[in-house]
Order: sequence, then C-alpha cells, then structure tokens
Amino acid sequence: MTMNTRDEALARDAADPLAPLRAQFALSPDTIYLDGNSLGVPPAAAAQRAQVVIAAEWGEGLIRSWNTAGWFALAKRLGNKLAPLIGAAHNELVVTDSISVNLFKVLSAALRLQQRRDPKRRVIVAERGDFPNDLYIAQGLVAQSNGAYELRLIDDPAELSAALQPDTAVAMITHVNYRSGYMHDMAALTQLIHQKGALAIWGLAHSAGAVPVDLNGVGADGAVGCTYKYLNGGPGAPAFVWVPHRHQGAFEQPLSGWWGHRAPLAMSPLFEPDDGIGRFLCGTQPIVSMALVECGLDVFLQTDMRAIRDKSLALTDLFIELVEARCDEFPLRVVTPREHAQRGSQVSVAHPHGYEVMQALIARGVIGDYREPQVMRFGFTPLYTRHVDVWDAVETLHDVLVKETWRAPEFAIRASVT
Ligand SMILES: *Cc1c(COP(=O)(O)O)cnc(C)c1O
Repeated sequence: MTMNTRDEALARDAADPLAPLRAQFALSPDTIYLDGNSLGVPPAAAAQRAQVVIAAEWGEGLIRSWNTAGWFALAKRLGNKLAPLIGAAHNELVVTDSISVNLFKVLSAALRLQQRRDPKRRVIVAERGDFPNDLYIAQGLVAQSNGAYELRLIDDPAELSAALQPDTAVAMITHVNYRSGYMHDMAALTQLIHQKGALAIWGLAHSAGAVPVDLNGVGADGAVGCTYKYLNGGPGAPAFVWVPHRHQGAFEQPLSGWWGHRAPLAMSPLFEPDDGIGRFLCGTQPIVSMALVECGLDVFLQTDMRAIRDKSLALTDLFIELVEARCDEFPLRVVTPREHAQRGSQVSVAHPHGYEVMQALIARGVIGDYREPQVMRFGFTPLYTRHVDVWDAVETLHDVLVKETWRAPEFAIRASVT
C-alpha cells in the first residue's frame, strides 16, 4: 500500500472518479489547501451568483425579490437541498443563523420537552473536549435557567453511560471532534442515550459534507451544523438546524421571532409557532450570504457521500502513511484514530512546536491550521483535494522539519486566528 513516488499519487488522481469536481472550485494554483474543515474553498459559481444576487435580485428586484427571487423561502429550500447529505427528510431542516444560535434553540427546545415529560430531567451531558463554543452555549442556557438546568461534562466517551442518569434530559455530542478528528459511533450512542431516557442532540460541524450521516436512520432528536466548513458556503455563511418530524410540534424554541411565526405577516401581537421546521427560524436572514450556500450544495448533488467517504479515507490513510514513512525521525504524533470507523475527514498531528511548524508550512503554500495544545490540523476535502496534494504536503512538511525553517522568529508570532 505504501506509496514511493509522486507519479503513483498522480496515477491515483487519474483514476479518481471525483477528480473532475475540482474544476468547480476557485482554487489558487500555488496553494495546497488542507483547511476545508475550517473554511471551505469558494465554488467557482459563487462569484457569479453573488453578482446576480446583488445586481439583479437586490439592485433591480429590490423589495419584490422577497417573493420573486424566493428570498423568503430560501431557508427551507436550502435545508431540503442539504437534507440528503445528512439523512434528513423533506422539511426537517432550515439553513439559518449560526451553530451557536441554533444550538441554543434546539437545546432549549429539547430541555423544555423533557421537563414537561419528567421534571426530574434537567441535566445536559456533554464532552469536556468538545469545541468549547458549544459548552459556552450550554453554560449560558444553564445560567439563564436560575438553577433549573445543569451541565455535566465527561472526559471520555466511555463515561457516557454512567453520566446518563435519571436526571439527564439531553446529551449534546459533536459527532467528529474538532481537535483530534475522532468520530463517534452515532447509531450506538443515540441508542444508549435513548435507553437512558435522554434526547440526543448531535453537532455536525465536522460531519456535514465530510462523512456519511443518517440522522433519521439512527433516530437522533436534533442536530446542528455549519455550511462554511466542508459544505463550502463561505465565511460566516448561515448554519443549519434539524429537527425530525416526530418532534417538530413539541419542540418549542425560545427565540420566537417573526420568521418562526405561523403567519409572519399577519402582524398578530401573539406569537404562534409555525407547525413545522419553520418554527426554528427567528428573524430576517442574511440573504446575500445565504444565497451562496447553494453553490456549495450544488456540487454535492453531482456525487454522493459514499464516494466522498471512500476518497476521504484514501486521502487520510495516505497522509498518515506518508507522514510516518517520511518524518519518523521527528517528534510527530498522529492524534487521529487509525480505525476508519473512528476517523472524520481530518488528520491531526501533534508536534512540540506545532504552531511554528504550521506557520512555516503556510509560508510554503501548504495551508492547515493549529489548535492548542500542539495540534496541527490537516483537513481533506474530497471534492477538491488530490492525492498529489497529500504527497506534496508531506514532502513540504519533511523539508520544513529537516531544514528547521520553522525556527525562524517570524513563525513564532501568534496571529489572532490560528
Ligand atoms: C465550527 C464549529 C462551531 C462554530 O459555531 P458558530 O456559531 O458557527 O461560530 C460550533 N461548534 C463546533 C463543534 C464547531 O466545529
């Protein structure tokens, strides 16, 4: 399986069924981009779409475009386009707001439902190693409840069962960990959470468009995810929130804005939620940004998550294998699991000077990122990443380590976003 020459990488690209999709992205030719897990590359169609939205829909259509350009329906229409990627049904998700806001909405709704069923259920279980933002949102929700709710953190997935007590309302779990790239068994954990009487809310930030997800298949109770990572929706593009049909009537979210009203323009002083997923909308959406999300989704329509997963595993396997073969004399440690079932679409590599090494790589056009402590993250986006990119990235890493170019003082200067 080991690859010995760059030509072998090129041969794999020549045989890759997804290779033609790369042309649909506006990639800079002198960059090897391994950070699609943080911000995806623009689809080539996005620049033109932005032009149409700004000049024609906004400029000429003006206020009429809420109807004529379908702006008002966009949150649901995009949700339905995204649905097949995550095993969701029609009208079960909306593209709207940020992950943070959506998590607040869906966690609140799940807690309220559980409190109605059984007031003893008041605890949110989550992982301490989760992306801290999601814990911050849970902390805010707990603080606002004046002691009614509580957050219980676990340090290892093996502790989940014990943490799910008769007082537990919700388990909030991110499917693929942002730092390590570890992927949970969503089906098994959802089953366990349900056995213990809790609801399962999944975070899909590093899953949507990266790995196959089957929300309805596993019977999850809610999910959130973003569109600017593997879905290539653009910086700060709206996120999504999913609630299965069976919960939609019973999930009441607290940000009861007019977009979530059953008749937003009836101007009734009384809030009455939409019957369906529309109740998870809040206020007016950033249409210019949201419109571009569709360009990313349109690329996914030309393939499927099985093909994407096959290539993702081929790329991450190759990266791990080459890092170990080429860089074994250096203090590198692959943090991401070898087992396919436990690996998302990124490889995290720890190095005592990970920050500096990553800056040196970026200076050479190999773009990944860094997360404290020590971890260099390399994300693999099968729609546009080639096997030869993996080869060249590892050769560059080897060169940076051999020549110790990372020791240059400029690489130790911390930028505000790492
Ligand atoms: C990227 C990411 C977020 C981002 O949340 P925003 O509200 O979009 O800033 C949240 N949670 C996880 C797990 C993430 O990976």
